[in-house]
Amino acid sequence: MAYGLGVARGMLMTLRHVFRPAITVNYPEQQRDVPVRARTNLLWFEERCTGCSTCAQACPDGCILVQTSPRADGTLSIDRYEIDFRICMYCGLCTEACPYQAIQAGGRYNDAVYVFETMYRDRTALSAESHKYLETTGGRYPNGQMQELIPLITTMPTARSRVDVAGVKDDVPFGPQRLPGRLDRDEM
Ligand code: SF4
Ligand code: SF4
Repeated sequence: MAYGLGVARGMLMTLRHVFRPAITVNYPEQQRDVPVRARTNLLWFEERCTGCSTCAQACPDGCILVQTSPRADGTLSIDRYEIDFRICMYCGLCTEACPYQAIQAGGRYNDAVYVFETMYRDRTALSAESHKYLETTGGRYPNGQMQELIPLITTMPTARSRVDVAGVKDDVPFGPQRLPGRLDRDEM
């Protein structure tokens, strides 16, 4: 008897839900809006990046590659910036480590691909993705800042700009990034 009661209760519950509006959506024809600051993906914003490589050092999977060369003013020119999403676990440690919030969590969640290798994204692919994101948000970064409120090229000091840059002569003036390095301390 108790068994039959349980079945009846279950059927009643099912019947009640049959007449309620569905909470599922027919993906991919229908797509839910996700919160603006959802941690859906990684977005790299070149205009904020100094090339300091802190993100690459923080990544436990080693999926970020940063290659730079020194400029005469002590800043770094970013020659390569690449993320291997094939091995990324979306832990977000790189976004927490970046001192300039140049890599942020956000963007597309429907990031499935047909060719696995296309998940290795170079600077061009990453910039295309972040530009597309900024177009949809009217220039607002995932962290809430507006694009025009920050300088287009980040000129903040980097760890590597604290030492003398190889190949730059002493009489060439350094930019504001150059802080006292080892050589300066030896002279003091
Ligand atoms: S989200 Fe995690 S695994 Fe992916 S690039 Fe950033 S630190 Fe590496
Ligand atoms: S930590 Fe940030 S500023 Fe430094 S290289 Fe990575 S993304 Fe660029």
